[in-house]
Amino acid sequence: MVAPVTKPPRERTAGTWGAAIVLLGALVAGLVGGAVLLWRSIDIDLLLEAATEEAPPPVDEFVAQVPLPELPTTTGWTAHIYMSQRSASFFPEPNYYPALIDRWESILAGIGADVGLVGSATGIEALPAAELLVVPAAICLEAGERAAIRRRVENGGHLLVTWALGARDENCNWVGFDYLRELAGAETAGTLEGEPPTYMVVPHGSVVAAGLPPGSRLELRTESWITLRADASDVFWSDWALNPLPAPEGGVGGGAVARTTRSGARVAWFGYRLDVAARRRDQRLLERLFENAALWAAGHVLAEVDPWPAGHRAAMAVTQDVEHSFNNSVRLALDLSELDIPLTFFVVTQLAREHPELAEVLNAAGELGSHSADHRQIGGRVWAAQLAGVKQTRADIAAWSGEPPLGFRPPRELFDSLTLEAWRRSGGLYLAASNGARNAVPAIFDVRSGRVVVLPRVVDDDYAIIVTRGQTRPDSLRAAFVAGLEKMRALGGLSLVTTHTQLIDSGRRVEAVASAAQAARDAGDIWLAHASEIAEWWLARSQLELTVRERDDRSAILFVLNKGASAVESAWLHVYLPEEPATFAAPEMGDIILESHYEAGGLRVRLPTVIPGESLEILLPRRPA
Ligand SMILES: [Zn+2]
Repeated sequence: MVAPVTKPPRERTAGTWGAAIVLLGALVAGLVGGAVLLWRSIDIDLLLEAATEEAPPPVDEFVAQVPLPELPTTTGWTAHIYMSQRSASFFPEPNYYPALIDRWESILAGIGADVGLVGSATGIEALPAAELLVVPAAICLEAGERAAIRRRVENGGHLLVTWALGARDENCNWVGFDYLRELAGAETAGTLEGEPPTYMVVPHGSVVAAGLPPGSRLELRTESWITLRADASDVFWSDWALNPLPAPEGGVGGGAVARTTRSGARVAWFGYRLDVAARRRDQRLLERLFENAALWAAGHVLAEVDPWPAGHRAAMAVTQDVEHSFNNSVRLALDLSELDIPLTFFVVTQLAREHPELAEVLNAAGELGSHSADHRQIGGRVWAAQLAGVKQTRADIAAWSGEPPLGFRPPRELFDSLTLEAWRRSGGLYLAASNGARNAVPAIFDVRSGRVVVLPRVVDDDYAIIVTRGQTRPDSLRAAFVAGLEKMRALGGLSLVTTHTQLIDSGRRVEAVASAAQAARDAGDIWLAHASEIAEWWLARSQLELTVRERDDRSAILFVLNKGASAVESAWLHVYLPEEPATFAAPEMGDIILESHYEAGGLRVRLPTVIPGESLEILLPRRPA
């Protein structure tokens, strides 16, 4: 199940985010006026100053397209597109439907299919069950067409449908979603109501989302798209912060479904049409969902490298910004290191100088990173200022603790392309910052001086919980961190637990942080690590290039190439099977049978260590029928 997650205090959109940040500065000033001296005056002044500065360009502006792994290479299969004459006349623009059919033809041809067109119920009945039938946007269906599609599924024929299939009759009069519900296997269905923007989130483990960064948020053009009660690992409708929207009559509102019926038919449904993404990046991801679903429904094996090492479902890093009330870091350091929980401290280095005795304590308890020299916003500043700033803070930490830091949390979690370049050029490895909730996993940026990783925080931090929402009890703090963890576990993402010294100011609050980390450990499938280990893993994982080919009998061959300069350990593959696992024998690599586990989401295969330049060839043999 997609775990219930907390709603953000207020719906925030990308467009109003900048305004919200400026507001934060004003809010903090207000708090001081009210004599609630939460932040040290140095922070207040700087926040106010920063609020008047120009905001850095949003990350989207300098980020290249999301690189997607290759799709499986497949040939020698056929897909048929159903052209519904009645539905064609439903769209006011006469060219809309023919153009949509053309687009589908090119998408299917692009993934290796020979494409045929069908235009009648008898045409559907004549199709072999083993071939794929695609029915795009067929909203108006007459009884014969309905019966032919239904019979096809009952006979194990595979199907990909989109949008409001059969919601209107042969005269395009409204009849409702019963027919769609039946085919999609959903208890409830309805239309998505709401204001723009319209978002959808893809969790890791859904075949439809194979190859996309886990938790990717896609924006669609706003229309009354279709939502139905989702099952585990379905793609779901969400708000900006990746929280699911409710389905009609409760549950999670699904936007896409891939399921196998009792008759063995693979049925994929999408609650929207093709070419309805808000922007080009979204459109590319949206197309990939359709391509994945078509390949799977047509009987092909899909695979991807699991996001986390050693078979973990999600990851967690417990971090603290060490700033005002610097000494409060000690209690967290001592209590959590006693429990063996990896900690990462991001230190304001001007303040660190006043506490030479703490370097050893924090260093012993975890990893030391920088939270800038002076807590001034760095994103948005000119190049020379950014470079000088990061060099200063790196030198400060090296002098303080003996080693320059790998990680940087930019003040207010804001950064731009110059921040990435400056941090990488001065020897840094990663940033811990906001990614605008674009997805739930780290991202790698190629800058001039090399590669730099951004670990995103897409769960609430202690500031959001305690200050913004006013939930000051330790129990609430723990509950909110655990809710963030469950959300990231559902998505296959990173829970970047973020705390501040001025807020984690009592034994009970330290205890709440420890207890949330303990919950992650008890879950058994969460990777608890230092932030730098997570960044290093993400780089290592990116060295693996996976390609999937298929033999004539549709056995899959998976090639894993290490393109990098270092060995990659503990990687797992996630293999999505079109049929039940008994159809396939265990994965083999030469004479070796690889460790693998079958789960609801597919087969997970443990890879041996892959040395640089090495290419593994893994066969997933289909048993003879
Ligand atoms: Zn800070």
